[in-house]
Amino acid sequence: MIDTLVVGAGIAGLTTAFELTRGGRKVLVIEQQERSGGNVYTLSHQDYRLESGPHSFMGSAENLWKLLDAAGLEGEAVAASPAAENRYIYRNGRLMALPMSAGRFLTSPLLSFGAKMRLAMEPFVRGGAREDDTAWDFFVRRFGVEAASYIMSPFISGIYAGDIRTLGARAAFPKFWGFEKESGSMIRGAMRYMKAKRRRYKAEGKPLRKGLFSLKGGLGTLTGHLSSRLGQHLRTSCAATSIRVIPGGFQVAAQGETIQARSLVLAVPPQKAAALLADVSPAAAQAISSVPMVPVALVHWSVSTGRVTMPSGFGFLVPRDQGLNVLGTLFPSQLFGDRAPEGQQLMASYYGGALSPEVAQLPDDRLLALVREDHRRVLGEDPGVPDMVKILRYTHAIPQLVPDHPERMADARRALERVPGLFLAGNYLSGVGIEQAVESGFDAAGGTSRFLEEHGSNGKRSD
Ligand SMILES: Cc1cc2nc3c(=O)[nH]c(=O)nc-3n(C[C@H](O)[C@H](O)[C@H](O)COP(=O)(O)OP(=O)(O)OC[C@H]3O[C@@H](n4cnc5c(N)ncnc54)[C@H](O)[C@@H]3O)c2cc1C
Repeated sequence: MIDTLVVGAGIAGLTTAFELTRGGRKVLVIEQQERSGGNVYTLSHQDYRLESGPHSFMGSAENLWKLLDAAGLEGEAVAASPAAENRYIYRNGRLMALPMSAGRFLTSPLLSFGAKMRLAMEPFVRGGAREDDTAWDFFVRRFGVEAASYIMSPFISGIYAGDIRTLGARAAFPKFWGFEKESGSMIRGAMRYMKAKRRRYKAEGKPLRKGLFSLKGGLGTLTGHLSSRLGQHLRTSCAATSIRVIPGGFQVAAQGETIQARSLVLAVPPQKAAALLADVSPAAAQAISSVPMVPVALVHWSVSTGRVTMPSGFGFLVPRDQGLNVLGTLFPSQLFGDRAPEGQQLMASYYGGALSPEVAQLPDDRLLALVREDHRRVLGEDPGVPDMVKILRYTHAIPQLVPDHPERMADARRALERVPGLFLAGNYLSGVGIEQAVESGFDAAGGTSRFLEEHGSNGKRSD
């Protein structure tokens, strides 16, 4: 019997397996797709390098750096070009730069004078963090209606493809919500947090990295590297279909075979985890199956440099009431040098999400017509027929962390305590980004190691 079976070779499952293998455990990872990586995968398409999920990660992503360091990939990290500092919001028929400094904020046309004053008053607005705050309740309380509508709402659609009115502040923005709860103000709390972090990094001799990063060859370099280190201990095209508790461990049915392991980590999306858990832990299955997911269509497209004038920057986001379908567009070829052939500008546009799920399901020709029309309005000139198009669709793209999400996940964890040796990993547990998915992998590996240490080879407690 192997020590651990990890189901799902997304970044969460690969992190779990990598950590356990480093600790000397016998691990097998099974993955239903023909390739590993889940949403963290870089596609070579014609002469382009296209990301299937995240395009970059933040310098502050501590768990990701820890993983890169442990995997010997720190040297592969590449910082985004300084243009990445420029981000835009589409409002009133044009792109407006998101002000990144107090001076620019004062002169920015993005918000009315009254809204700027209201935002600047944030440190003096009484705190009132409630556990059931939606993101809308929270950001309106902290920043006022206009800033919540035209800065925070598009920001939320950029991360969650979500609806500010249904996401929970404590679940979806735990740091921000915690800043208000502890310091009475989000801005004051953020300043204190940054000060403490700077001090900690200095004491630990760690570099405080700012800005955005990717890896040489794209983020798929990471999942590709972790997969190749697993070698024959990773089986692709191998979907788990059921799990059973047996004496001393678990038995998992996968593609006509049965695999036995002393411990089991489910690193699959919530609906898949719920289906696998249905017999073993109905209570955990119920809690997990209630996590809503939204569909997204990601359209990679490219036009030659002379065809349209793109603003220099990271990309733009669109508030929902501005009459466009696109949630936002990134400019990957401006961020990293190796994404598009010379003379081409690569764009990545997101459609669908919580507020317009039907758009993510439109046929390719209708979606492309929207890309062209939306960008004609945003850029003020018709981009024409793209030279390259690649559409990726996700029916269950991003988990939506609603106000009682932390309780639902606590219910699932409590229920799983009655099934010793079974752990969860994945981006739906406590945050939807790649950083939190990696963190969940480290946590699952830690829990599994402790379990294996505490129990003898027969699966019984050794004490
Ligand atoms: C379009 C898009 C854009 C994104 N952009 C960003 C971003 O800019 N920044 C950011 O931080 N995050 C972003 N994310 C989120 C990020 O990609 C995820 O947080 C992360 O990839 C989730 O990793 P995971 O391992 O939890 O899940 P997944 O990547 O979903 O991996 C789960 C794996 O389990 C496999 N599986 C499922 N069922 C079974 C089964 N029965 N048996 C075996 N295997 C199974 C799946 O095939 C999959 O490979 C984005 C996501 C998407 C979809």
